[in-house]
Amino acid sequence: MKIALLAVDSDYPNLALMKLSAYHKAHGDTVHWYNPFDRYDRLYMAKVFSFTPDYRYYITNVGEVVRGGTGYDIHSVLPGEVDRLQPDYSLYPGVADNMAYGFLTRGCPNHCRWCIVPQKEGGIRPYMDVDDIAVAGRDYLILMDNNILACGYGLAQIEKIVRRKYHVDFNQALDARLVTPEVARLLAKVRWMKRIRFGCDTPAQIAHCERAIELIRSCGYRGEFFLYCILMDFNESYRRISHWRKDKKVLPFAQPYRNIDNPHQRIPQWQTDMARWVNRKELFAKCSFEDFEARKGFFCREYFY
Ligand code: SF4
Repeated sequence: MKIALLAVDSDYPNLALMKLSAYHKAHGDTVHWYNPFDRYDRLYMAKVFSFTPDYRYYITNVGEVVRGGTGYDIHSVLPGEVDRLQPDYSLYPGVADNMAYGFLTRGCPNHCRWCIVPQKEGGIRPYMDVDDIAVAGRDYLILMDNNILACGYGLAQIEKIVRRKYHVDFNQALDARLVTPEVARLLAKVRWMKRIRFGCDTPAQIAHCERAIELIRSCGYRGEFFLYCILMDFNESYRRISHWRKDKKVLPFAQPYRNIDNPHQRIPQWQTDMARWVNRKELFAKCSFEDFEARKGFFCREYFY
């Protein structure tokens, strides 16, 4: 069979497409990125986000189209025989030979109202062993777990990561509330690829993040922290994010609120402007939100009037 792949809304390495590619190549099929001028027996379309537009053009010269990913159906999953395979990293030449992507756990026990994970994946459960992700010399790992600290299996996997000396980035954030002195000691031993990421989505989480950061630093960690901050109420978001301007090694990252039940929701302008201010590290360090000129002649202090 001749197989085509199409990543509709993201250039980020797509695990599902990489596993589908591995599956089809193992069955003697040819696999290519979709080219509308070519002919294929089957096209797999992957859409990650529910709020992004669908593929805007006609699909031509394709026998069958299979759509998957959260952007099409939050409950879509790969068949077990595909999901167990190693990803075909050759699809993404930008992925270095020593890098791997994966999940150790799926799901999350919490139910934050802005988050799709509980609906999509349910409660937390073991999913893979880190040694089955770090194969063939790939010992720099991007792990996309949603709440790795929330189960004993996740903590045991982090212990293994430390023993194996893998370098990791848990790129979906850890839960600061779960950082005990013992967990902090463990986290301080990990070889972090970039920084340690937490969620700081509510006013209450400021104190939890501060406590976790202090504990981990007291165990010898000298790197950066990265805080995902969702934007909801203007004044509250402004206060929560501004709180972190005092510490140059703590980098907030603002994310406009997306109503998961309303994919057509428009992002308020203040959220776009605040995200632009926060997410440019130098700008955030140098300039207050009030003094940020979001557009020619428009300073964000006007939001406070
Ligand atoms: S803790 Fe994180 S993954 Fe879990 S529901 Fe809240 S935002 Fe989602």
